[in-house]
Parts: sequence; C-alpha cells; structure tokens
Amino acid sequence: MAEMIPFLDLKAPYAELKEQLDAAYRRVMESGWYILGEEVEAFEAEFAEFCGARHCVGVGNGLEALQLALMAAGVGEGDEVIVPSNTYIASWLAVTYVGARVVPVEPRMDTYNLDAQRIVDAVTARTKAIMPVHLYGQRAEMEKIAKIAREYQLWVLEDSAQMHLRGQAPFWMKGVRSAAAYSFYPGKNLGALGDAGAVVTNDDELADRVRVLRNYGSRRKYENEVRGHNSRLDPLQAAFLRVKLGVLEEWNARRSKIADYYLYELADAEGLALPKAAAGCAHGWHLFPVRHARRDELKRWLDGRQIGTLIHYPIPPHLSEAYADHGFKRGDFRIAEEIAQTEISLPIGPHLSLEEAGRVAEAVRDFCLTR
Ligand SMILES: *Cc1c(COP(=O)(O)O)cnc(C)c1O
Repeated sequence: MAEMIPFLDLKAPYAELKEQLDAAYRRVMESGWYILGEEVEAFEAEFAEFCGARHCVGVGNGLEALQLALMAAGVGEGDEVIVPSNTYIASWLAVTYVGARVVPVEPRMDTYNLDAQRIVDAVTARTKAIMPVHLYGQRAEMEKIAKIAREYQLWVLEDSAQMHLRGQAPFWMKGVRSAAAYSFYPGKNLGALGDAGAVVTNDDELADRVRVLRNYGSRRKYENEVRGHNSRLDPLQAAFLRVKLGVLEEWNARRSKIADYYLYELADAEGLALPKAAAGCAHGWHLFPVRHARRDELKRWLDGRQIGTLIHYPIPPHLSEAYADHGFKRGDFRIAEEIAQTEISLPIGPHLSLEEAGRVAEAVRDFCLTR
C-alpha cells in the first residue's frame, strides 16, 4: 500500500529547524521572563520589517488580532462591516464580538476574493469598515478596495491570516486608514507551535490602541484606561516565530513550486476548476483549492489512495448554526454556497515533495478521466 500523503506535515518543520527551535526554547526558559518583553518586541520589529509596515503588535491569536483591530478602529454597536460571504468563520465572529453587524458580500468565482463592484453596492451610511480576506493565500484586489474605502471614508481591516508574504499587508494608500490581522496558527505559512497572532499597521494611533487593548487596557501596571483584553503574544511563541520567519520566504517558494507543478499537471483535467492567480495579486499558496462538481466523490477517491485533503469550508458562515439568529437562508449567497459544495484543497506545504505532488496530480487526473 502506498504511504500516506498528509494534507500538511506539521512534524517536518520541527525536524528541519530542531536545533534553532530548541535553542529558542532554552533561551526563553532560562530568561525568567514569560510575558511580553524582549522576545516579543524583537519578533514585532522583525515581522513589521517583513511586512514593510511601521508597527506590529503581537497578540494571542488571529481571531483576537481581528477583534482588537476592529475595537481599536472604533468599530462597535450600530456599525456595519463588509465581510466576504466565503471565509473562515473567524472573520465574521470578530465583527460580531465587537457588537457590529456583518454585511456579507459575494466573492469573484475565479479568485474567491471579494468582488469590488459588489462592495460598492453593499455600502450604507452605517458602514464603518471593509474586511477583505486574502483567501487561500491570494491577495484581494486591494487597489480597488482601498479606492472604495477612500471614497466612503471606511477603514480597511484585512484578514491576512492566510497570506504571509513580504511587503504585502497592510495595503497602504494615502487617505485610507488600514491594518492587517495575522494568525500564526501552526498550519499557516508562518506558523507558531501553538496559538499566536499579530496586528500590523502603519497607523500610529491604531497600533497604540491595540497595544493597550491587548494588555488589560493598561499602559502602566494597574492603571486601566479602557476595559481591555488579555491577548498577549507568548514570548515562547515569539521566539519560535523568529526562527520560522527566517525561513518563511524559502518555504513560501517551495509552496509556489508545488502550485506551479499542480497548475501544469492538472491544466487539462476535465471538470476541474483550478485556482487563478489574478494579475497583480500576489499568491502565497497557503492552500491549493480546486473545484469539482463531484467533490465528495473526489475526496473519497483521494482518501482511498492515502491522500489527505481538506475542504475550505464545507459550511459558509451564513448557513452556520452560529449565525442562525441572523435570519440568513440557503440561496442568500449563492457563490459562497457553490464554493462550499465544490471546493477541495489538495496537499501543499514546504515539506511536500514533488514526487508526492506527482502522486496527488495523477490520482486527481485519474478521477477526472473516469467521471
Ligand atoms: C486561521 C484564520 C483565522 C483565525 O486565526 P486563529 O489564529 O486560529 O484565531 C482567521 N481568519 C482566517 C481567514 C483564517 O484562516
């Protein structure tokens, strides 16, 4: 029997970086300093530099990065935030947690990212922010989105949980206030060895507010200017992230190579929709999403051939039980529903060999031939 090809190998990164990660662990253990401090500050400086931004504020995870960015931008009760209809539910939850209303907007079917024209149609007098999600690792059409934000004076708060690319987020445009929320969940392109996240921005005021909000609303110990959260990036994770940031571009390049290989090998596969890298929109290939009308059968077919896959995501947020009280129904967001019914993500990652990718491509081609 063929060896299992996991959807994503999370042991291999540690094996490759064991010496450096172990040294980072020991450095933090022996420092006697376990909340914020030098290690967190060093990572923040290094990640801000990587993004090409003025500020990075390390927080507990991606969801809280989104939530604190919204709070810091002053989004709350009575406000509306434009979100994609097809995203991981975290984007919506952050908006809901701050008391604002989610206004879902359908994506483009070719890139799966927010359709700029539909954003304009969804703007109302209550709209406070647009939250583009760089889904599957591909940058949304930020020039167009930022122009809309400038015209209607909206914040742009990017969900960059799936896009860790040098110099790409936050998108900066004169006259637009923006920030990007990152997740360093272990499976992301830049993954910690536990939960971690960050808010990255060029906005001095927003950065300052997030810094206060992540630490009990306090600038000086026991002086609380606002009712903040406890969402501080763990120094141990910061130390691990510094090691992994050092190899991020090389590992992104490995992902990109696999994506190119799949795009070439699967170009003629009947009935299979391949991801499109839109012009001018960088792609970090966090995932390699394909679509097929008989997606569930394809998944079983690949399961049977020891090939791990995942679906991103099987239930769009508007049909999730968590949002049952919002009164959405099937048919409200047809593109998101279509994607949820047909999408399947093939294995991709810095430790997937081209030989393994070859086995995946062959199995997918065989499936497409027999349907
Ligand atoms: C992973 C992810 C998040 C949440 O990140 P956590 O660190 O798991 O809280 C938010 N949005 C998107 C699009 C994600 O993929």
